[in-house]
Amino acid sequence: MRFDIVTIFPGFFAGFFAHGIVRRAVKEGLVSIETHDLRAFTHDRHRTVDDRPFGGGEGMVLKPEPLAESLRSLGIEARAHREPAHASSTRVILLSAQGRLLTQSLAREFAALDRLVLISGRYEGVDERVNELYCDMELSIGDYVLSGGELAAAVVVDAVMRLIPGVLGNEASGEFESFGQADSAITTDTEGVPRSQHGAGGLLDYPHYTRPAEFEGLRAPDVLMNGDHQEIRRWRREQQLRKTLLNRPDLLEKAALSAEDRRILDSLRS
Ligand code: SAH
Repeated sequence: MRFDIVTIFPGFFAGFFAHGIVRRAVKEGLVSIETHDLRAFTHDRHRTVDDRPFGGGEGMVLKPEPLAESLRSLGIEARAHREPAHASSTRVILLSAQGRLLTQSLAREFAALDRLVLISGRYEGVDERVNELYCDMELSIGDYVLSGGELAAAVVVDAVMRLIPGVLGNEASGEFESFGQADSAITTDTEGVPRSQHGAGGLLDYPHYTRPAEFEGLRAPDVLMNGDHQEIRRWRREQQLRKTLLNRPDLLEKAALSAEDRRILDSLRS
């Protein structure tokens, strides 16, 4: 899969590319990530990318011409002149606090595409006509305002990339995390040991522990030490329910819950 990021700070991403799973995925050719310096698409001496807002008010706005030119240089025509998004394996995305919220299921949809083009805004944002003419969607990474779209673009690349087959060393691990797909048939690994959880079913992940067994006076839960996989599975499920109830009760409304889950929830609530 290919990611193109249009930004006024291409250097911003160097650290992100140099570490961990991103680095490995690029090295192994599973993804390619290109950054494109918006200033390269200006034609004045000062390489101007911004201008004052029509109608007055605070701050500056990213001008439409360099953005449109950068997109055309990537082979992206205005929407009216390219195939509709649903028929295409490319999405042109404007990072924006006004966008649709990024979720794990949206990340999964993106991971099935061939190419994401990510536009990072700055200042007060991007001239709205760029959105209207060129972008398939506006995307927000959360209900807060960042000072630029670069961090948001990196978040999108990270969340999407790790769902591409082969990127995570452990093929199934994406399914067993917070927001994982509903309970799946894979409940054990090749050695018959329960995987990190019994299908996430849209719940948050359970807590993880490693050595030492005792740390600053706190013991890791005994249930994880006794090798009883049935019991471990039950305990982890209960922890998932507990954490989801505590931190994200909204997720429980859509989660796939068994009768046993509901019984556990009732007892947690009382
Ligand atoms: N005036 C805008 C904020 C501009 S912040 C507003 O009130 O909505 C500058 C840039 O940061 C934006 O153009 C966008 O690209 C990026 N940005 C800010 N918050 C973001 C968020 N929650 N998700 C994605 N991008 C964001």
